[in-house]
Amino acid sequence: MTDAVLAYDEVLESYDPVLGLEVHVELGTASKMFCGCSTEFGAEPNTQVCPVCLGLPGSLPVVNAVAVESAIRIGLALNCSIAPWSRFARKNYFYPDMPKDFQTSQYDEPIAFDGWLDVEVPTDDGVRTFRVEIERAHMEEDTGKSLHVGGATGRIHGADFSLVDYNRAGIPLIEIVTKPLAGAGELAPEVARAYVTELRELLVGLGISEARMDRGQLRCDANVSLRPRWAEGEEPTPLGTRTETKNVNSFRSVERAVRFEMCRHAAVLSGGGTILQETRHFHENDGTTTSGRIKSDAEDYRYFPEPDLVPIAPDPEWIEKLRGTLPESPAERRRRLSEAWGFSDKDLQAAVNAGAVDLITATVAAGTTPDAARKWWLGELARRANETGADLDALGVSPVQVAQLQALVDAGRINDKLARQVLDGVLLGEGSPEDVVVARGLEVVSDTGALGAAVDAAIAARPDVAEKIRGGKVAAVGALVGAVMKATRGQADAATVKDLILARLTADS
Ligand code: ADP
Ligand code: MG
Ligand code: ZN
Repeated sequence: MTDAVLAYDEVLESYDPVLGLEVHVELGTASKMFCGCSTEFGAEPNTQVCPVCLGLPGSLPVVNAVAVESAIRIGLALNCSIAPWSRFARKNYFYPDMPKDFQTSQYDEPIAFDGWLDVEVPTDDGVRTFRVEIERAHMEEDTGKSLHVGGATGRIHGADFSLVDYNRAGIPLIEIVTKPLAGAGELAPEVARAYVTELRELLVGLGISEARMDRGQLRCDANVSLRPRWAEGEEPTPLGTRTETKNVNSFRSVERAVRFEMCRHAAVLSGGGTILQETRHFHENDGTTTSGRIKSDAEDYRYFPEPDLVPIAPDPEWIEKLRGTLPESPAERRRRLSEAWGFSDKDLQAAVNAGAVDLITATVAAGTTPDAARKWWLGELARRANETGADLDALGVSPVQVAQLQALVDAGRINDKLARQVLDGVLLGEGSPEDVVVARGLEVVSDTGALGAAVDAAIAARPDVAEKIRGGKVAAVGALVGAVMKATRGQADAATVKDLILARLTADS
């Protein structure tokens, strides 16, 4: 059954949205959070496990110092206070992919708290800045992965049996939780997307994770609630009940999930119903959400301080030293790049919102001009990403390949039209742009010998046009160039063709 939704404009006439974003980022440390097991992606199931991450009796965890350092750097970059003393806690619940039957996390003593991150959203009246307040950033560990075998959907329902892979169990995670974010109004879906995009840029800039959403290294849970609008000068109405859409795994999906939930909540509320506090699943195919499990604030995980780990009490000098290692913020970096690249504010903001700043940077580093790099990533490639619902960096073409593609265009070996065919090949996994050009025979033909026959045929087919050109009407040459291009299926070099035709018809001049 599909849920009723209210049109977006109508939602905003009656309600004010409030957001809460929880982002999990997997750290790129070589070993796990509390043991020495490797974190390498894609290994054979259950080959990267040990008594500690399997929670076997008598095993003792030890904190990964690099993970603590990363947590502090994230906290500092998000303008948080760093706790002089904090502890891990056990969050007790049963789940088959969590071998210890508890998750080692942080509860009321997170390592970082009370920060903020400014995000920018372009509107028709210029760029608007929203300050997203950060409640806390805490350390925890990832769970394993379940694989449901048999059945059509890959879900547990209808499966014949399930398998678990504990390789991911114990990989360090940082969870970053915002305070309730009000005031975004109609821009709430865009603000949610801009926040996750900006946060990812910040994390990648810190060098603590690749933070790839398509690999689950960055995952977002989007909380949304609506409250009735209030009259000017009155006290705002209290916050409404939130729903939490889990594990949304692309920037675009974050925006869509928030928008859908706003429209769904509004339909329920305006029909006199109540919103249940529950988790929901987002569906990429149609942009809807469906109910997960009911979740109350009073849910009892029996948190208690982890007895096997010492408290974290970072030396203030170390914290200051780490502060000194922070790179420029994404916003500062953008200002610098915008100047270096000569982009307008609008172009740069478009690049940011498409998640393309790093991709353009890497493409420029590989030798392409900033303008050409921007045109690829925000033009043809953005169009394709939109069609498939992927983020740009998960499209399947690397900045180096884009640079190679542009180099082929610059060298006159392919034209824009052929470049799009070369791109098709690259995206289908046929190799580098050069490989595709060779394998598919896509090179522009500028070899005058090879083109000569096509040129002669075009002239012979249109004696009237040829006569005009002979008579001095050089502008008529376009019709013949077009005929040659057609005959060579776009692979002729138009400038060479034109030269050849003129050379034949105006030989004596
Ligand atoms: P949980 O354990 O249920 O995930 P968290 O405290 O980790 O709870 O995260 C809840 C998120 O929802 C936070 O970002 C919080 O700011 C936000 N939030 C809390 N109340 C509301 C509300 N009424 N509407 C929207 N977001 C909310
Ligand atoms: Mg949470
Ligand atoms: Zn281990």
